[in-house]
Amino acid sequence: MERGDVRAVGKEQVIALTTSDFLSNEALEEKNSGLSAWEQATEVLQLTQLGVDRSSWAAFWVTEHGYLCYANEGACQCLGYSRTQLYQMNIGDIDSEWGAAKWDQWWAAVKLRGSLTLETEHQRADGTAFPVELTANYVELKGSAYLCCFARDITKTKQAEVEWRHQQERERLVGAIATKIRQSLNLPEILQTTVDEVRQLLLTDRVLIFKFNPDWTGTVKVESVGQSSFSILEEIIYDPCFSEEYVRQYQEGRVRAITDIHSDGLDECHVKFLSQFQVRANLVVPILFNQELNITTNQQQLLDHQFSGYNVANSQLWGLLIAHHCQETRQWHEWEMDLLKQLATHAAIAIQQSTLFERLQLANRELELLATSDSLTGVANRRMFDEHLNREWRRMMREESWLSLILCDIDYFKRYNDNYGHQAGDACLQRVATAIRDAVRRPGDLVARYGGEEFAVILPNTNRTGALQVAEAIRMSVRDLGIPHCASGVAWMVTLSLGAATAFPSPNGEPEMLIAAADQALYEAKAKGRDRLAHSTLQRR
Ligand code: GH3
Ligand code: MG
Ligand code: MG
Repeated sequence: MERGDVRAVGKEQVIALTTSDFLSNEALEEKNSGLSAWEQATEVLQLTQLGVDRSSWAAFWVTEHGYLCYANEGACQCLGYSRTQLYQMNIGDIDSEWGAAKWDQWWAAVKLRGSLTLETEHQRADGTAFPVELTANYVELKGSAYLCCFARDITKTKQAEVEWRHQQERERLVGAIATKIRQSLNLPEILQTTVDEVRQLLLTDRVLIFKFNPDWTGTVKVESVGQSSFSILEEIIYDPCFSEEYVRQYQEGRVRAITDIHSDGLDECHVKFLSQFQVRANLVVPILFNQELNITTNQQQLLDHQFSGYNVANSQLWGLLIAHHCQETRQWHEWEMDLLKQLATHAAIAIQQSTLFERLQLANRELELLATSDSLTGVANRRMFDEHLNREWRRMMREESWLSLILCDIDYFKRYNDNYGHQAGDACLQRVATAIRDAVRRPGDLVARYGGEEFAVILPNTNRTGALQVAEAIRMSVRDLGIPHCASGVAWMVTLSLGAATAFPSPNGEPEMLIAAADQALYEAKAKGRDRLAHSTLQRR
């Protein structure tokens, strides 16, 4: 193109620059004087022009009225227009932000600053849009002003940004749930948080945790469901197409992602099964237990808890973490699968941790029972009796109420042992303990083995009359057992002598005084012929 070759195109003119436009006065003089600097500059200019023309970046010049007057190959490729088409267009046609409404503002801003870089969106010939980083430079040339623009497609950068944000969000969620698992043993709460957060993050319709039964049916244990879908919580689900093959694959940690149940080549029965829950697309990850946690079936049966009824003997596959997309099809992303996998691992840890905790609690309860009960008769032991009596003494003092104590002693028990043997003696003690327990009705009352063949009964909120009633009931209850005792000096069967005492606990007294009074009464009952009761009242109001 020769210097000054200006073609009229559209409302504006397409510019073709020549070497002279870029040469200094000295260089022009040299050119005019026919020196080689002219040729050198032409070469440099041609190279520059070639570089700009071929650049993958979009480069274009815009006239004062917003028309494109130069576009390189990069611009044509990015936008999907030919040069001829672009030269007919206004910048507003490819970037609505720079359209007629705001053009004057942008022009003034670039003119003022000389150069401006910003992120915007360009529209392709096919109507699609893509993000760009645009640098506009204000240039004046031979009396005309232009914006010399360079645009870089930043789709990949934007995608990386989105991916980074997802990654951050994912790490936040996994971290939060891991922390919750560390800090809490409240399994239902942990699992509920998991499904709620996953549904929120994946923007999906239903997220659930499903627990397998030994026969591979299962129950929806935890669920988070949006308003447009229905709940299937606690539903027992039988999937007729679920086979051993699925079990094997899940046990290997396989994730199942279905984009569209109608076009993913699923079996007819599987499509039917998912359709009943309005599922269009779903993502399923297994919840796998670490087999090192060796829970035997027996121990398992002891755990009467909704989350611990799995059977390790059958499988290490505990259940599934599932996302249901109901409204439309869905292409699941790699990060979504990774997220669900990570959370399924945490869910498994939480469930196992909770199971272990329950076992520990059970063991503790057993230990506590051992520490507080009498191994032969099963009633409270002496230690428990002492603690309970002290506690009740203080409580009755606060409540200003009566406290009674009954000491029960088997009559001529030494002779029973001598006659029937020690083992029969033990059996007799067990039956007597049960009879005493049966005669004592209030939940706050305590029956304890006080020593050898002696039992004690603590009766809070019980006055003299009440204590005598209970004592007589105990005496009759043991008599009614009708355990033969041919060596007894008082009856043909095993009998009891009982000493009861009642006190109105006060700061001046002590529980030991109540014991001493009951012991005294027992002595009296023995002295008066056994198989009877005596009573003494320690303090009156
Ligand atoms: P009393 O009517 O005066 O109470 O006479 P007793 O024979 O019942 O009283 P004593 O205190 O002389 O004897 C208590 C007996 O209880 C002695 C002991 O052999 C028996 N005994 C204590 N603990 C146990 C036990 O755990 N098992 C058995 N089989 N016998 C026990
Ligand atoms: Mg005794
Ligand atoms: Mg005795």
